[in-house]
Amino acid sequence: MSRLVVVCGGSRGVGRAVSRLLAQRGCRVAVVSRDKDKAQDTVDSLHGGEHLALSCDVSKEQEVKKTFEFIVQTCGNIWGLVNSAGINRDGLLLRSRPQDMEELLGVNLLGSMLTCRAALRSMFHTRAASIVNIGSVVGVKGNVGQCVYSASKAGLEGFTRSLAKEVASRNIRVNLLAPGFIRTDMTAGLREEALVRSVPLGRLGEPEDVAHAVLFLLESPYITGQVLLLDGGLQLAM
Ligand code: NAP
Repeated sequence: MSRLVVVCGGSRGVGRAVSRLLAQRGCRVAVVSRDKDKAQDTVDSLHGGEHLALSCDVSKEQEVKKTFEFIVQTCGNIWGLVNSAGINRDGLLLRSRPQDMEELLGVNLLGSMLTCRAALRSMFHTRAASIVNIGSVVGVKGNVGQCVYSASKAGLEGFTRSLAKEVASRNIRVNLLAPGFIRTDMTAGLREEALVRSVPLGRLGEPEDVAHAVLFLLESPYITGQVLLLDGGLQLAM
């Protein structure tokens, strides 16, 4: 039976590339995003059949609960969870509105907590499962204009390490991948030449670069509680 992986934020960008690689490697993928049509578009592009497209706002507890219950009822126990759903609201802290801060923390931090909690109920049955949260290099290094975003990603780091300790005895592993600049909708409005100048490897990352590292963390049986930077050397220059 193929391993079931839930990819939150799988409709676009990093999550879409992760979904595609996992399907190529024989996993059954449940693609979750707010927009079901876009999730379905990812599913239609996947290798093999029997993948699922689901609409769910990860910041809403009841939606998450119902979505994960449906996934388990339909497909069985969850082997992997990838938390790639995320938003940014860049701007100096003095100009940031509290409602935007709440929305960002709700998706990037609370959302991952809710999906992990919902998935763990199923993962406890299998006693061999893996979670990869997507953080950011700015959660490690900080950045001007990204106080709230970097706080959400730094929070995710602490959450990842603590959860790794909580569930290790059940053979459930929890790791965080922290990308630098990746070419997706999230970075589409930024000037590429300026970004590339700060990256020692001299290019933006592609979603597929991230997907390979996610697969590595999902499958590595003796790695847990780790933060892996995937940034073309960006942190060396920060
Ligand atoms: P993206 O292209 O904008 O994709 C974001 C994904 O998250 C979409 O599938 C989106 O689908 C989903 N999403 C957003 N809000 C959601 C919500 N409330 N509930 C469920 N799904 C939601 O972004 P990306 O670049 O792939 O980013 C993926 C992750 O990597 C994020 O956590 C981001 O912070 C992180 N990251 C990105 C970069 C980068 O340079 N791109 C760098 C470091 C870290 P819907 O809009 O349909 O909901």
